[in-house]
Amino acid sequence: MADAQDQVRLQIVEAIRMLERIGLLDMNGHLSARVPGRPDRFFINARGASRAVVGPQDLAICDLEGRPEPGSPEPPSEVYIHSAILRRRPDVGAVLHNHPHWQLVLGIAGLQPQPVFSIGSFADPATPVYERSSLINTPEMGEELADVLGDGRVAHIRHHGAVYAAANVQEVFALAVFTEENAKKQYQAALLNPNYHVLSGENLERTRETNWAPKIVQKIWTYYRDKWLTREGE
Ligand SMILES: [Zn+2]
Repeated sequence: MADAQDQVRLQIVEAIRMLERIGLLDMNGHLSARVPGRPDRFFINARGASRAVVGPQDLAICDLEGRPEPGSPEPPSEVYIHSAILRRRPDVGAVLHNHPHWQLVLGIAGLQPQPVFSIGSFADPATPVYERSSLINTPEMGEELADVLGDGRVAHIRHHGAVYAAANVQEVFALAVFTEENAKKQYQAALLNPNYHVLSGENLERTRETNWAPKIVQKIWTYYRDKWLTREGE
């Protein structure tokens, strides 16, 4: 089990550093994942650890109320986003919160996400929106956000960011990358033509089915990881 825990620690660290490298995390944002063998505990990057150089030792371990274990580094103030979702959703193994530029711009403009790009076609016009924009730094706000997310994969936090819930670290990484890629394409298409094309009907269903499967998530992860590892230090 120690090996499995080390592996998840490494995945979290790699995901955070890759997300930072591609502009989807900055000095803020956090990724959590359940501790293998201890489903009522989760790892999360510590409050004080830079996202650019975070290492496996920089992860806090918290319970499902967001309390750190004795000796653990201090978790981020928004840990309650993670504890509330992981407590309610046994299907979720990893949660990410970030401040993605293009999704924020669409939300500020009052536009809901539309499926416009094949790999990002899971984008859902019914993506729920949490309207309280401050730091989500109380258990009550964590519960409210988890209510808004419901059994979905993505929720928007107006003027603030997004939260993603997935089975594992690789999936939550891919979800964040392609939610943002879809939002960017939607934004640019809307500038060129307010009546831009949106995937729909059977075409949408088949596009979603064929573009979002575990082996595709793995391919996305491997590509970004290889790219990051070969360019690290450039
Ligand atoms: Zn935030």
